[in-house]
Amino acid sequence: MSLSKRFVLFSFFLLIALTQIVFPQSTKFGIVIHGGAGTILKSNMSPEREAEYTAKLNEVLEAGYKILNNGGTALDAVNAAINIMEDSPLFNAGKGAVLTEKGVAELDASIMDGKNLMAGAVAGVRHIKNPINLARLVMEKSPHVMMVGEGAEEFGKENNIEMVDNSYFITKERWESYQKMLKREEERKKAEKHGTVGAVALDKNGNLAAGTSTGGMMMKKFGRVGDSPIIGAGTYANNNTCAVSATGYGEYFIRLGVAKDISALMEYKNYSLKDAANEVIMNKLDKLGGDGGIIAIDKNGNVAMPFNTDGMYRGQYLSGEEPVVKIYKE
Ligand code: ASP
Repeated sequence: MSLSKRFVLFSFFLLIALTQIVFPQSTKFGIVIHGGAGTILKSNMSPEREAEYTAKLNEVLEAGYKILNNGGTALDAVNAAINIMEDSPLFNAGKGAVLTEKGVAELDASIMDGKNLMAGAVAGVRHIKNPINLARLVMEKSPHVMMVGEGAEEFGKENNIEMVDNSYFITKERWESYQKMLKREEERKKAEKHGTVGAVALDKNGNLAAGTSTGGMMMKKFGRVGDSPIIGAGTYANNNTCAVSATGYGEYFIRLGVAKDISALMEYKNYSLKDAANEVIMNKLDKLGGDGGIIAIDKNGNVAMPFNTDGMYRGQYLSGEEPVVKIYKE
């Protein structure tokens, strides 16, 4: 080979090597979502209902994935995914939220950015159409992490958040089940718990984010706050470990600090995401008597979705893979 040819070849490989350094191969990215865990059995589900859930979960995955694929942030993908589920009456968040013992909707939500550990949360709001948007406002436009009730709503109003009458959240189905439960103590005990929504995402820049939004638990006491708006319990994200969103019997998730516990096992004990998530949900939560599950994604795009209930509405859409939606236990 002539010297000039060798030089051309050398330059060519040098250029490729430099390109890899300047524009590293885009890492894995993707989104994982849940629409609540609980007594979700195929035997109780009509094919039409199942199709409705599957279609909505796919729509959510597509919307979140599109943002990530276009180079958008994990935070934006999580926010957009949760908005769709808040607006859908199928889930216990936003429209279609469960009701307190007083028959009103009281909503909780939180969001966290794994890049800088910034977080925002709201609890007990009654007139915010999309509570996750208010949680994000608290994160981005206030010096605080968590705001509750009237103060949170006033802050939302100042920032032009969309407000609605409480009746907007109350669907016919939830009102009927509330009326039934008022009458029947037995059903009250078995109160329907599932339907909280959440999303976690990893973007092309390697940033993680997590968010959760809920109406809480059916027949909860006026003023009760669950795990969903508690950073470290229902929601957590840290670029060095993982992003987690939880659903289930909130009191247990708060007592175990579930979301942060999973991250801590990875950070301090070098657990894989899967081992950390299984340890906290299938072992610790289960032993304490709590039920529910989590969705999580780590900085490398590994996904875990353990739950100890009959089912959990869930889905994932990762780069280089097809979207997957599941409802029941495998
Ligand atoms: N974790 C929520 C709460 O306790 C409820 C749920 O996920 O279904 O408020």
